[in-house]
Amino acid sequence: VAAAAGPCLAKPRALPISEAELAFIWQGQRYPPGALTWADGTSVVVSSPGRPGRGPGPDFRDAVVRIGTQDRKGDVEVHLRASGFRAHGHQWDPAYDRLVLHVVFEDDAGGETRLAGGGVVPVASFAPWVKARAADIASWLQREPLWREPCAEAVGTLGPDVVYERLRAAGEARFRKRAAALAGEIAVQGPDQTLWAALLDGLGYGGDRDGFRRLAGALPLALLRQETGRRLDAAAGDAGGEREAKAVRAAGVALAVLLSVAGLTPPAPGLPRLAPPLRAAGRPANHPAARLGSAAGFFALTGGEPARFAAETLARADCVRTLRKLWSVPGQDAGFRTGQARLVELLINAVLPFVAAMAPGMARRCLDFAAALPAPGPYGKTRLLESNLNRGGRRVPAGALEQQGLLAVHADWCSQGGCGRCPLSRQGT
Ligand code: SF4
Repeated sequence: VAAAAGPCLAKPRALPISEAELAFIWQGQRYPPGALTWADGTSVVVSSPGRPGRGPGPDFRDAVVRIGTQDRKGDVEVHLRASGFRAHGHQWDPAYDRLVLHVVFEDDAGGETRLAGGGVVPVASFAPWVKARAADIASWLQREPLWREPCAEAVGTLGPDVVYERLRAAGEARFRKRAAALAGEIAVQGPDQTLWAALLDGLGYGGDRDGFRRLAGALPLALLRQETGRRLDAAAGDAGGEREAKAVRAAGVALAVLLSVAGLTPPAPGLPRLAPPLRAAGRPANHPAARLGSAAGFFALTGGEPARFAAETLARADCVRTLRKLWSVPGQDAGFRTGQARLVELLINAVLPFVAAMAPGMARRCLDFAAALPAPGPYGKTRLLESNLNRGGRRVPAGALEQQGLLAVHADWCSQGGCGRCPLSRQGT
């Protein structure tokens, strides 16, 4: 039967240790010097913790403890709280009259324990030491940081212009490195396949990037071109229509081929199959099918010749706005379009360094376009760096090339323990 409503007794606070653990700690003296103290705060000196008692009576027998200036030999009783002694009725039990020490976690009885024979035994507890440590931790939480990356002061100490300049220099170096890598790829697999692979790589970023890289190898651009052309030729009534409508049809056919080879739709006769298939996960806008829609859009936009298209658009564009427009898939079918943030990524990581690799005379122009592109949102790996640099004033990075600089600084310095030596923590050049 449930107890009737009566006086509500406060439950004692839970302690961070059990009685058995406390006895274990005492037996092996497993605590740092100074952790067990008398009521006046001085440390307890123990010569011997005693041997564990068997059956009724004190927990430890024949311990030796320094009390005052003398070593006292006797028994030791262990409780979580000093009041446990009375709660267990030991104050009536002469078996405890040889106690020299009452060890507790928390002394809630005032420093002494009265024995059956009329004597008193001192209480020693751990709680004051433990509480002092907890207070230390609480004060650490309030404290001003003792460490901050030097770049947190960079805008103030170096000045924003120097910070921008150093980031742009790092971004430019990264861009040139990327162009050199693409030049190597062009020599091996030709311009179109190189740019196609770079575009697929950029479209896979933040998703199944490895799968998109494998797809570029499994379905080379030449094969996609061939299969798309064959299907378009076979489609009845395909010959007519506006240029834009034809591009949408080409994108639709290319997408069907890409989806099938990627393993997201049933296999098609005569076409390779990615193994394992692309991982079909993510929000609708990030789903691999949506990314492949972008790839199909670029395929149609460039007429299946991305290298020629890249060179022509770079020559034609009078500003970065025009360039973005030229690389934006036209028409109403949003399924083939690419978001502006990803388009900027593709331009700076694929198209611009590709043109710089193909035509070194255009490298300066490509870099100028890269510098004029807006910075996409922060990357996970450069978020700390950005928050350190963005302490009021203009946003850092101001443009996509500076953001490339952040990535370079992260790769070359932040991830290599470079605080204090990197370009953003160094005075001078
Ligand atoms: S290495 Fe990175 S985190 Fe450290 S100071 Fe330089 S930029 Fe900042």
